[in-house]
Amino acid sequence: MSDHYATLGVARDAPPDEIKRAYRKLARQFHPDANPGDPEAAEHFKEVNRAYEVLSDPQKRSNYDTFGDERAGAAGFSDFGGISDLFSTFFGGAATGASRRGPGRGADTLAEVELTLEEAAVGADREVEVTTLVSCDVCAGSGSEPGTWPSRCSDCGGTGETRQVRRTVFGNVMTAATCPRCGGRGEEITSPCKNCRGRGRVQVTDTLTVQIPPGVDDGAQLRVSGRGEAGLRGGRSGDLYVAINVRPHEVFRRAGDDLACEVTVPMTIAALGGTVEMPTLEELEPIEIEPGTQSGQVVRLRGRGMPRLGGRGRGELVGLLKVETPTDLSDEEVELLERFAKLRGERTGQRGLFDKIKEAFQ
Ligand SMILES: [Zn+2]
Ligand SMILES: [Zn+2]
Repeated sequence: MSDHYATLGVARDAPPDEIKRAYRKLARQFHPDANPGDPEAAEHFKEVNRAYEVLSDPQKRSNYDTFGDERAGAAGFSDFGGISDLFSTFFGGAATGASRRGPGRGADTLAEVELTLEEAAVGADREVEVTTLVSCDVCAGSGSEPGTWPSRCSDCGGTGETRQVRRTVFGNVMTAATCPRCGGRGEEITSPCKNCRGRGRVQVTDTLTVQIPPGVDDGAQLRVSGRGEAGLRGGRSGDLYVAINVRPHEVFRRAGDDLACEVTVPMTIAALGGTVEMPTLEELEPIEIEPGTQSGQVVRLRGRGMPRLGGRGRGELVGLLKVETPTDLSDEEVELLERFAKLRGERTGQRGLFDKIKEAFQ
């Protein structure tokens, strides 16, 4: 709803005659006769009229200023639908009462599913075992033995709540609390159903198949609507939340939709250029290595990361190049490398180090 003062283009402290003038001007401007076939003007005309209706009435204007709604305040608490509603409006439902309006909704339940990264990439159907409360089919969830009916609660007389006037520094405050005897239901079960012992629900272990969409990440929660605990006395069922654990992968690390892995490049290929194989989720992918490649350089494969959850396409796969120094050299290889070092004027081997130390002491 738009602000009535803004609609009329007047200040919040505008005197009544100014409001009247503003209204007349705007009403003429947006009148349907002046704007035939213009739905926007018609809508605006309605808003202007509504704003004037509130701001031209001192009581309505005062309510609107205080509560943001002309019907509140002095118009009476009845508009809120009872004292407990007023409490829930102001205190976030702390004074209950609201729970009495409909049959109790069932609690949400939680299950866990563990996936590999490969499964998370393509999605999976998983059987989930859930222990939950379902409506008792002997009493149809009422809790009363078939053929019997509950009676009105003797403590609260059927209202479901007990009221107390408490003295506080703000004066006397009326508090409403859920009736402890009937739990707010306003009635008591006189002949409890033998199957569920009057609870209306029985515990079962159920197996259901959950479809896990491609692209889910570790820590995500899927909501399976209506598969949580059954509600109380015919109330709506809660939801089942499935927590997703994606096991760490030995090759890939994940960041959002992107994946990263290390790509080993032999020293010779790093120096001379060539082809190496880079792991991807599907296969080993040949990639070109430029001559003179260094450790720490990256290769990016677009569209080879994780699929975007509920979206299109995939993230990228980033390969971090790591130049590998050989450790298992044969005599011939050592000889070749020493020749190579000599050509480059590089001193190799431990003798070189001793030479340096000797030089330092001479
Ligand atoms: Zn039962
Ligand atoms: Zn009661």
